[in-house]
Amino acid sequence: MTVLRRLGFEVTSAPNTDSSGLRTADEIAATIGDLRPASASGKPMLKQAVVLLWAIGRARVGHDRLLGWADTVAALTPLLQTHRRNGESRHGRPDYPIAALFHAGLWELPGHTDVPRAHGSTVWTWFTEQAPEGGLPESVYALARRSGTARVRMIDAITSRFFEDFDESGFLTAVGLYDEDVATDEAPPSGDSDQETVSGSIRAASEFDYARLCELVARREKRTYGQRRTRIANDPIRISAAREAVLLRSRGQCENPGCCRPAPDLNDLGRPLLEVDHIVGLADRGRDHPEQMIALCPNCHRVKTSGRTRHELITVLARTAKERHDQWLTGSDHR
Ligand SMILES: [Zn+2]
Repeated sequence: MTVLRRLGFEVTSAPNTDSSGLRTADEIAATIGDLRPASASGKPMLKQAVVLLWAIGRARVGHDRLLGWADTVAALTPLLQTHRRNGESRHGRPDYPIAALFHAGLWELPGHTDVPRAHGSTVWTWFTEQAPEGGLPESVYALARRSGTARVRMIDAITSRFFEDFDESGFLTAVGLYDEDVATDEAPPSGDSDQETVSGSIRAASEFDYARLCELVARREKRTYGQRRTRIANDPIRISAAREAVLLRSRGQCENPGCCRPAPDLNDLGRPLLEVDHIVGLADRGRDHPEQMIALCPNCHRVKTSGRTRHELITVLARTAKERHDQWLTGSDHR
């Protein structure tokens, strides 16, 4: 909100259709950052993170937002039993983390306002007796389902808050959130594939989203886990976020300044058919970061790979990527 005001937008509140009041990825990430999980072995217990990420994984593939209590227990119990810290209880009951998420505004239990807060048997008894249907609030579900950028920001907020040095890859894989398309928006309905759809499908490019994706990439470049503080080399969340940032910056056009043509088509995910390329290969110590990556049309990508002019082109592309990155971060891209 503050950023929009600074950019000169008049900010008014949208109608609140969501009892939690959460509407933007920013607000959701801030709420996640404020969660106060109990600790086990001096680190945050994972239960609330397991519940949230499971629900985000369900939203991503379009499962119903609300689920009955018996089905919720059946789905979450094995996940909670398997993915936990040393010292975190083995029972795998989802009622305690769901009660905590409900009071934080991150879970909806329609028709219920009297959910107990206290730890202990009151929570268990209440859930057993009420067997409430529940799920993510509407705004959280909609963003997790449709917006790749919002989805990875939620995942990053949860893993930063809860997982610390815990290896999150096994759990994220189990709930369908650890692949290189995780930051990609939901595909639009298939049908039209003419050029108008190509440009129309590209969201209003947002410097704000670009900056947030770059922050996420930089944070996850440093992310480590385990006793040996192993760096995560091939983190699909970082890779996906970096690629999404470059596509956002491209506005669906080849970023080679000698070309600038619109993408020739969309791919099956409804994304502009541009190749997001590392200007300097990772094997040659290039960085997996939008500053050193560029979106190219298939022709220019081919020239960069095999053309006789590739060395000159690479010099131009390296300069262009850095300039465009700086322009987007400072909001001075006014094309
Ligand atoms: Zn091109």
